[in-house]
Amino acid sequence: MPRSGVRVTYLGTNGYQFEFQGHALLVDPYFSRVDLFSIALGSRLQPNISRVEGGMRYLAPKADAILVTHGHFDHLLDVPIVMSRTHARLITSASAVELAKRAGASSPKAFGVSAGDVRRVGPWKIRVLPATHDRLFGKVPFDQRQMRSSGPPQHPADWVCGEPLAFLIEVGDQRIYIDSGGTPTQLPPRERVDLAILGMALPDSRARLPRALERLEPRYILPSHQDNFFQPLDAGFQFGPLTDFSRVRRDCQQANHGRLILLDYFRPWTLRKK
Ligand SMILES: [Zn+2]
Repeated sequence: MPRSGVRVTYLGTNGYQFEFQGHALLVDPYFSRVDLFSIALGSRLQPNISRVEGGMRYLAPKADAILVTHGHFDHLLDVPIVMSRTHARLITSASAVELAKRAGASSPKAFGVSAGDVRRVGPWKIRVLPATHDRLFGKVPFDQRQMRSSGPPQHPADWVCGEPLAFLIEVGDQRIYIDSGGTPTQLPPRERVDLAILGMALPDSRARLPRALERLEPRYILPSHQDNFFQPLDAGFQFGPLTDFSRVRRDCQQANHGRLILLDYFRPWTLRKK
Protein backbone atom coordinates (compact mmCIF):
# COMPACT_ATOMS: atom_id res chain seq x y z
CA MET A 1 0.00 0.00 0.00
CA PRO A 2 1.52 3.37 -0.99
CA ARG A 3 1.91 5.92 1.82
CA SER A 4 0.58 8.73 -0.30
CA GLY A 5 -1.77 8.88 -3.23
CA VAL A 6 -4.71 6.72 -4.22
CA ARG A 7 -4.13 3.21 -5.43
CA VAL A 8 -6.37 2.28 -8.35
CA THR A 9 -6.97 -1.36 -9.33
CA TYR A 10 -8.96 -2.22 -12.44
CA LEU A 11 -11.31 -5.19 -11.97
CA GLY A 12 -12.56 -5.48 -15.55
CA THR A 13 -15.75 -4.09 -17.19
CA ASN A 14 -16.36 -0.85 -15.23
CA GLY A 15 -15.07 -2.23 -11.93
CA TYR A 16 -12.49 -0.48 -9.76
CA GLN A 17 -11.00 -0.60 -6.32
CA PHE A 18 -9.64 2.62 -4.85
CA GLU A 19 -7.42 2.44 -1.77
CA PHE A 20 -6.34 5.28 0.47
CA GLN A 21 -4.59 5.01 3.84
CA GLY A 22 -5.92 1.56 4.66
CA HIS A 23 -9.44 2.25 3.34
CA ALA A 24 -10.98 0.72 0.24
CA LEU A 25 -13.86 1.84 -1.98
CA LEU A 26 -15.30 -0.23 -4.83
CA VAL A 27 -17.17 0.77 -7.98
CA ASP A 28 -19.19 -1.67 -10.13
CA PRO A 29 -17.33 -4.87 -9.13
CA TYR A 30 -18.27 -7.64 -11.59
CA PHE A 31 -16.34 -10.90 -11.78
CA SER A 32 -18.89 -13.46 -13.00
CA ARG A 33 -18.57 -12.38 -16.64
CA VAL A 34 -21.61 -14.26 -17.93
CA ASP A 35 -21.09 -15.29 -21.57
CA LEU A 36 -22.83 -13.56 -24.47
CA PHE A 37 -24.78 -16.67 -25.40
CA SER A 38 -26.49 -16.81 -21.98
CA ILE A 39 -27.33 -13.11 -22.16
CA ALA A 40 -28.68 -13.36 -25.72
CA LEU A 41 -30.84 -16.33 -24.71
CA GLY A 42 -32.11 -14.57 -21.60
CA SER A 43 -30.88 -17.42 -19.40
CA ARG A 44 -31.12 -17.42 -15.61
CA LEU A 45 -28.18 -15.50 -14.16
CA GLN A 46 -26.34 -16.38 -10.99
CA PRO A 47 -23.07 -15.01 -9.67
CA ASN A 48 -20.24 -17.41 -10.55
CA ILE A 49 -18.90 -18.02 -7.06
CA SER A 50 -15.50 -19.35 -8.07
CA ARG A 51 -14.92 -16.40 -10.40
CA VAL A 52 -16.09 -13.95 -7.72
CA GLU A 53 -13.74 -15.53 -5.22
CA GLY A 54 -10.92 -15.48 -7.77
CA GLY A 55 -11.41 -11.75 -8.36
CA MET A 56 -11.80 -10.95 -4.70
CA ARG A 57 -8.35 -12.31 -3.95
CA TYR A 58 -7.12 -8.98 -5.32
CA LEU A 59 -9.39 -6.88 -3.10
CA ALA A 60 -8.82 -5.49 0.36
CA PRO A 61 -10.59 -7.73 2.92
CA LYS A 62 -12.90 -4.89 3.93
CA ALA A 63 -14.33 -1.99 1.96
CA ASP A 64 -16.10 1.14 3.17
CA ALA A 65 -18.62 1.20 0.34
CA ILE A 66 -19.55 -0.07 -3.09
CA LEU A 67 -20.77 2.55 -5.56
CA VAL A 68 -22.84 1.25 -8.47
CA THR A 69 -23.55 3.36 -11.57
CA HIS A 70 -26.74 1.52 -12.63
CA GLY A 71 -28.67 -1.72 -12.30
CA HIS A 72 -27.47 -3.77 -15.28
CA PHE A 73 -26.11 -7.24 -14.53
CA ASP A 74 -22.55 -6.30 -15.53
CA HIS A 75 -22.54 -3.73 -12.70
CA LEU A 76 -24.82 -5.18 -10.00
CA LEU A 77 -25.05 -8.98 -10.30
CA ASP A 78 -22.09 -9.72 -8.00
CA VAL A 79 -22.67 -6.82 -5.60
CA PRO A 80 -24.71 -8.67 -2.93
CA ILE A 81 -21.99 -11.30 -2.50
CA VAL A 82 -19.16 -8.74 -2.59
CA MET A 83 -21.05 -6.70 0.04
CA SER A 84 -21.37 -9.67 2.34
CA ARG A 85 -17.69 -10.60 2.05
CA THR A 86 -16.25 -7.07 2.36
CA HIS A 87 -18.85 -5.74 4.86
CA ALA A 88 -19.29 -2.76 2.54
CA ARG A 89 -22.40 -0.65 2.33
CA LEU A 90 -24.00 -0.13 -1.08
CA ILE A 91 -24.56 3.35 -2.51
CA THR A 92 -26.58 3.45 -5.73
CA SER A 93 -29.93 4.50 -7.23
CA ALA A 94 -33.16 3.52 -5.48
CA SER A 95 -34.07 1.01 -8.19
CA ALA A 96 -30.62 -0.63 -8.09
CA VAL A 97 -30.90 -0.84 -4.28
CA GLU A 98 -34.24 -2.58 -4.72
CA LEU A 99 -32.74 -5.09 -7.18
CA ALA A 100 -29.73 -5.75 -4.95
CA LYS A 101 -31.96 -6.37 -1.92
CA ARG A 102 -34.13 -8.78 -3.87
CA ALA A 103 -30.93 -10.55 -4.94
CA GLY A 104 -29.93 -10.97 -1.30
CA ALA A 105 -28.11 -7.77 -0.30
CA SER A 106 -28.38 -6.81 3.35
CA SER A 107 -31.15 -4.16 3.61
CA PRO A 108 -29.63 -2.00 6.38
CA LYS A 109 -26.46 -1.67 4.32
CA ALA A 110 -28.05 -0.57 1.05
CA PHE A 111 -28.58 3.16 0.58
CA GLY A 112 -30.49 4.72 -2.30
CA VAL A 113 -29.17 8.03 -3.60
CA SER A 114 -29.93 10.32 -6.50
CA ALA A 115 -28.08 12.96 -8.44
CA GLY A 116 -27.17 15.90 -6.21
CA ASP A 117 -26.63 13.88 -3.04
CA VAL A 118 -23.34 13.91 -1.15
CA ARG A 119 -22.22 11.04 1.07
CA ARG A 120 -19.19 10.80 3.33
CA VAL A 121 -17.87 7.36 4.20
CA GLY A 122 -14.50 7.03 5.96
CA PRO A 123 -12.07 9.32 4.12
CA TRP A 124 -14.22 9.38 0.97
CA LYS A 125 -16.45 12.27 -0.03
CA ILE A 126 -18.80 11.03 -2.73
CA ARG A 127 -20.81 13.41 -4.85
CA VAL A 128 -23.59 11.75 -6.79
CA LEU A 129 -24.02 13.19 -10.28
CA PRO A 130 -26.58 12.73 -13.06
CA ALA A 131 -25.67 10.45 -15.96
CA THR A 132 -27.24 8.89 -19.01
CA HIS A 133 -26.79 5.42 -20.45
CA ASP A 134 -25.48 4.73 -23.96
CA ARG A 135 -27.95 3.42 -26.49
CA LEU A 136 -27.35 0.05 -28.08
CA PHE A 137 -28.93 -0.20 -31.53
CA GLY A 138 -30.99 2.92 -30.82
CA LYS A 139 -32.20 2.29 -27.28
CA VAL A 140 -31.00 1.84 -23.73
CA PRO A 141 -30.92 -1.90 -23.10
CA PHE A 142 -33.13 -3.30 -20.32
CA ASP A 143 -34.53 0.12 -19.59
CA GLN A 144 -37.97 -0.76 -18.19
CA ARG A 145 -38.81 1.61 -15.36
CA GLN A 146 -41.24 -0.86 -13.87
CA MET A 147 -39.66 -4.05 -12.69
CA ARG A 148 -41.57 -6.98 -13.96
CA SER A 149 -41.93 -8.96 -10.77
CA SER A 150 -41.26 -8.51 -7.09
CA GLY A 151 -39.14 -11.64 -6.77
CA PRO A 152 -35.37 -11.86 -7.11
CA PRO A 153 -33.99 -10.74 -10.48
CA GLN A 154 -33.34 -13.85 -12.54
CA HIS A 155 -32.89 -13.02 -16.21
CA PRO A 156 -30.71 -10.36 -17.87
CA ALA A 157 -33.76 -8.13 -18.54
CA ASP A 158 -34.68 -8.18 -14.82
CA TRP A 159 -31.51 -6.22 -14.09
CA VAL A 160 -33.01 -2.94 -15.29
CA CYS A 161 -30.92 0.16 -15.81
CA GLY A 162 -32.86 2.51 -13.50
CA GLU A 163 -31.45 6.00 -12.91
CA PRO A 164 -27.85 6.02 -14.22
CA LEU A 165 -25.40 7.82 -11.93
CA ALA A 166 -21.87 9.17 -12.06
CA PHE A 167 -19.69 9.88 -9.02
CA LEU A 168 -17.12 12.47 -8.09
CA ILE A 169 -14.92 10.94 -5.42
CA GLU A 170 -12.73 13.20 -3.31
CA VAL A 171 -10.09 11.63 -1.09
CA GLY A 172 -6.87 13.10 0.33
CA ASP A 173 -6.05 15.79 -2.18
CA GLN A 174 -7.29 13.89 -5.24
CA ARG A 175 -10.51 14.11 -7.22
CA ILE A 176 -11.72 11.21 -9.35
CA TYR A 177 -14.70 11.34 -11.70
CA ILE A 178 -16.23 8.02 -12.74
CA ASP A 179 -19.16 7.01 -14.91
CA SER A 180 -19.89 3.97 -17.04
CA GLY A 181 -20.59 5.79 -20.29
CA GLY A 182 -23.09 8.39 -21.38
CA THR A 183 -24.54 10.46 -24.17
CA PRO A 184 -23.83 14.03 -25.35
CA THR A 185 -27.09 15.20 -23.73
CA GLN A 186 -25.61 14.87 -20.22
CA LEU A 187 -22.03 16.02 -19.74
CA PRO A 188 -19.87 15.78 -16.62
CA PRO A 189 -19.66 18.89 -14.40
CA ARG A 190 -17.29 21.71 -15.30
CA GLU A 191 -14.83 20.79 -12.57
CA ARG A 192 -11.17 19.98 -12.79
CA VAL A 193 -10.29 16.43 -11.72
CA ASP A 194 -7.08 14.46 -11.30
CA LEU A 195 -8.44 11.29 -12.89
CA ALA A 196 -11.41 10.91 -15.25
CA ILE A 197 -12.67 7.36 -15.67
CA LEU A 198 -15.08 7.50 -18.58
CA GLY A 199 -17.03 4.59 -20.02
CA MET A 200 -16.29 4.08 -23.73
CA ALA A 201 -18.09 0.87 -24.60
CA LEU A 202 -20.40 2.31 -27.24
CA PRO A 203 -20.70 5.14 -29.82
CA ASP A 204 -22.77 7.49 -27.59
CA SER A 205 -20.09 7.69 -24.93
CA ARG A 206 -17.38 8.23 -27.52
CA ALA A 207 -19.40 11.02 -29.13
CA ARG A 208 -19.39 13.00 -25.89
CA LEU A 209 -15.71 12.38 -25.12
CA PRO A 210 -14.18 15.64 -26.44
CA ARG A 211 -16.71 17.77 -24.56
CA ALA A 212 -16.42 15.68 -21.41
CA LEU A 213 -12.64 16.22 -21.41
CA GLU A 214 -13.07 19.95 -21.99
CA ARG A 215 -15.21 20.16 -18.86
CA LEU A 216 -13.23 17.89 -16.55
CA GLU A 217 -9.70 18.94 -17.65
CA PRO A 218 -8.34 15.73 -16.12
CA ARG A 219 -4.65 15.15 -15.38
CA TYR A 220 -5.20 11.50 -16.36
CA ILE A 221 -7.84 9.93 -18.62
CA LEU A 222 -8.73 6.30 -18.10
CA PRO A 223 -11.11 4.94 -20.75
CA SER A 224 -13.33 2.29 -19.16
CA HIS A 225 -15.81 -0.45 -20.05
CA GLN A 226 -13.80 -1.22 -23.17
CA ASP A 227 -13.07 -4.87 -22.54
CA ASN A 228 -15.05 -7.84 -23.78
CA PHE A 229 -16.90 -8.59 -20.55
CA PHE A 230 -18.46 -11.74 -22.01
CA GLN A 231 -15.05 -13.39 -21.68
CA PRO A 232 -13.73 -14.55 -18.29
CA LEU A 233 -11.15 -12.33 -16.61
CA ASP A 234 -8.50 -15.04 -16.83
CA ALA A 235 -8.70 -14.87 -20.63
CA GLY A 236 -6.93 -11.49 -20.33
CA PHE A 237 -7.92 -8.06 -21.59
CA GLN A 238 -9.55 -8.05 -25.03
CA PHE A 239 -11.35 -5.07 -26.51
CA GLY A 240 -15.14 -5.41 -26.75
CA PRO A 241 -16.55 -5.80 -30.26
CA LEU A 242 -18.19 -2.34 -30.31
CA THR A 243 -15.22 -0.37 -28.97
CA ASP A 244 -13.03 1.93 -31.06
CA PHE A 245 -9.82 2.58 -29.20
CA SER A 246 -8.05 4.33 -32.08
CA ARG A 247 -10.80 6.96 -32.08
CA VAL A 248 -10.58 7.30 -28.28
CA ARG A 249 -6.83 7.78 -28.52
CA ARG A 250 -7.14 10.34 -31.30
CA ASP A 251 -9.80 12.33 -29.41
CA CYS A 252 -7.70 12.30 -26.24
CA GLN A 253 -4.65 13.56 -28.16
CA GLN A 254 -6.67 16.32 -29.80
CA ALA A 255 -8.30 17.37 -26.53
CA ASN A 256 -4.84 18.01 -25.11
CA HIS A 257 -6.10 17.62 -21.54
CA GLY A 258 -4.36 14.98 -19.52
CA ARG A 259 -2.50 11.79 -20.18
CA LEU A 260 -4.30 8.76 -21.51
CA ILE A 261 -3.64 5.68 -19.39
CA LEU A 262 -4.79 2.08 -19.60
CA LEU A 263 -4.81 -0.43 -16.76
CA ASP A 264 -4.64 -4.18 -17.06
CA TYR A 265 -6.76 -6.37 -14.77
CA PHE A 266 -5.60 -6.44 -11.14
CA ARG A 267 -2.39 -4.45 -11.76
CA PRO A 268 -2.59 -1.50 -9.37
CA TRP A 269 -1.47 2.00 -10.28
CA THR A 270 -1.09 4.91 -7.87
CA LEU A 271 -2.50 8.36 -8.53
CA ARG A 272 -0.20 10.92 -6.94
CA LYS A 273 -0.24 14.68 -6.67
CA LYS A 274 1.68 16.54 -9.39
ZN1 LIG B 1 -25.33 -0.75 -18.62
